[in-house]
Amino acid sequence: MRKKGFVIAMDGPAGVGKSTIGQWVAKSLGYHFVNTGEMYRALTWKALEKKLDIGDEKRIVALAHEIDWGFHPSSDEVTLKTFVDGEPVSSHIRDERVGASSSQVASYPGVRKFFCKLQRSLGKNGGVVMEGRDITTHVFPDAEFKIYLDASVEERAKRRYHQLKAAGQEANWRKIKEAILKRDLGDLKRKINPLSFAKDAVLIDSTHMSRRAVAQKIIKMVRRRRDRGSK
Ligand code: C5P
Repeated sequence: MRKKGFVIAMDGPAGVGKSTIGQWVAKSLGYHFVNTGEMYRALTWKALEKKLDIGDEKRIVALAHEIDWGFHPSSDEVTLKTFVDGEPVSSHIRDERVGASSSQVASYPGVRKFFCKLQRSLGKNGGVVMEGRDITTHVFPDAEFKIYLDASVEERAKRRYHQLKAAGQEANWRKIKEAILKRDLGDLKRKINPLSFAKDAVLIDSTHMSRRAVAQKIIKMVRRRRDRGSK
């Protein structure tokens, strides 16, 4: 039994809504939310800032160990935000430059080993929703809830397109779809801890479901078990 509640592990491909759904679930249960992609992005951002060669695996792994990592709750007390050497990095890590190189950084075994240890320590007491690509299969194979979120690539591209448009940004549906397919391929084909479906995970296909409905489904599942007192 964990001190603060369950571990809810969520995996799935890019653009499926893991973050939004994970945050809603965490908020509703009074849990913390951890987006592990932020860690890979933050390391990539720092490496680019320092003008390091992203292809220099040894140097990138060393950098992961050199950084003073911090994970502090955002103002809503739900999301644990990533800090690098005391600096919050959320606003630096979402651009395409970081996104494109983060897949390469995430393919280095030394980097994955380092973050896996960090992620386990953040979640060990429970009371956490953690999302990524290998949380159900590798980081928390013993999580009380394992969820694999999926949606068709067309639907994911459509959602991303509307998000960008709503933010007043340029958007090209075909290019977005190609970028998503490329990231899917990288995540699925990676030699170490690729994105895969844990046999005992619950598959939720959200192609024809709203994100609210998906979040409600997960919250219901957790509350049912909590009410049964099997925590
Ligand atoms: O989730 P997001 O797209 O922000 O992740 C950024 C990068 O980190 C992606 O390239 C993804 O493959 C990688 N990642 C990973 N394992 C995780 C979370 C993210 O390899 N648990």
